[in-house]
Amino acid sequence: MPHKNPTARSYDIVIIGGAIMGSSTAWFLTELDDFNGSVLVVERDSSYEKCSTAHTNSCMRQQFSNSLNIEISQFAAEFVKNLRANIGDDRVPEQHIQNYGYMYLADDEGFADTLRENQKIQLAAGAETELLSAEEITARYPFYAVDDIVLGSINLKDEGYWDGGTVFDWWRRSARERGVEYIDNEVVAITKNANGTRVDSVTLASGDVVSCGQVVNASGPRGARTAAFAGIELPVEPRKRFTWIFSAEQPLDQDLPLTIDPSGVHFRQDGPKTYLAGCPADPDPAVDFDDFAMDFNRWENHVWPIIATRIPQFEAIKVVTEWAGHYAFNTFDQNAIVGPHDQIENFIFLNGFSGHGLQQSPAMGRGTAEWLTYGEFRSLDLSQFGYDRLVRNEPIIEKAII
Ligand SMILES: Cc1cc2nc3c(=O)[nH]c(=O)nc-3n(C[C@H](O)[C@H](O)[C@H](O)COP(=O)(O)OP(=O)(O)OC[C@H]3O[C@@H](n4cnc5c(N)ncnc54)[C@H](O)[C@@H]3O)c2cc1C
Repeated sequence: MPHKNPTARSYDIVIIGGAIMGSSTAWFLTELDDFNGSVLVVERDSSYEKCSTAHTNSCMRQQFSNSLNIEISQFAAEFVKNLRANIGDDRVPEQHIQNYGYMYLADDEGFADTLRENQKIQLAAGAETELLSAEEITARYPFYAVDDIVLGSINLKDEGYWDGGTVFDWWRRSARERGVEYIDNEVVAITKNANGTRVDSVTLASGDVVSCGQVVNASGPRGARTAAFAGIELPVEPRKRFTWIFSAEQPLDQDLPLTIDPSGVHFRQDGPKTYLAGCPADPDPAVDFDDFAMDFNRWENHVWPIIATRIPQFEAIKVVTEWAGHYAFNTFDQNAIVGPHDQIENFIFLNGFSGHGLQQSPAMGRGTAEWLTYGEFRSLDLSQFGYDRLVRNEPIIEKAII
């Protein structure tokens, strides 16, 4: 368990939130030869029990409509597959991606056209997305009922499950071993300079006041609360997402792709004989930070009938375990918000990752570390996802959202 009080009064970088985004940033800072500063990571719950990272479904995909989102996931794939070499530690277990792909199913021509347009962007970016007719789907995946399906879209390259928990653990462990200080405490206030253009310090729940050169908001679903401490409005709110792990009386004899049913329910292979399903709450309002209550009717009346209709072999299935987690839902355009505030220059966002933050954590952490060190993104230009698009009211609409 990390200690409570910071060992210094001043740090070059203070990161608010130590889950996957905060830890990725901290670790990538330690990778940069040009960065020699001090880093404090403040985490209000060092058990990480309730953060989005702990509730994730841990998949990655290349099927986005925005090519930057594709490049971000491609970096994730390369980083994860070479985790041991990247961390530079023989104790790191070998990693791989379970490439069963995401199977998007369209039951009308409108969505089929979107899949066709997306495929062009994905192929141009180096993905291997295939479009399948209902007959082709049946030939490869005979277990689906496809009477209502117009088109399917799947990519089997670097798309599927990966072990986000292990990557998170090693970033945190390695960052600490390299001198990043983690504390078990909470940022409860932020103080700016007289003309409001810079953050001077953060105040912790323990009463400690810590001066900082730059501050990173990696607070997940609490991102808007952290921004509000600095007088900044951030359109990010906690939205509930349910997950069920289930077993089937008659398991499939091949891996089940992460299937995005036209109803919005998704399901995929989990263990060798277990499966995972997920869906949003309905209605889907912002919820309290500590509200993780399950809606037990959702499975019985909504999810299970949809799964059993799409995969008749799954008529007899049984829930093994279930949980509710929170997306840090960006109500503006559901894309990431990364980089500095337009007026408070040393306040850096790492927010609003909705349902794709786990796979974005390598590129976002690397990019944020570059920004903190050089004042620019160097490897992959993430400026398209800057806060200034909110000020200009220019949303970036990602058409492939789950
Ligand atoms: C059900 C579900 C399924 C998902 N599936 C996928 C998937 O398949 N693929 C994918 O890429 N992504 C997925 N995601 C999204 C992904 O899990 C998140 O985007 C990612 O984990 C966000 O990480 P984070 O570090 O930004 O936030 P979090 O993990 O929520 O961490 C934020 C941390 O900040 C701390 N904190 C907040 N405020 C303060 C404060 N004031 N002081 C100190 N600490 C503070 C919190 O305690 C927390 O530990 C899923 C999410 C959910 C909920």
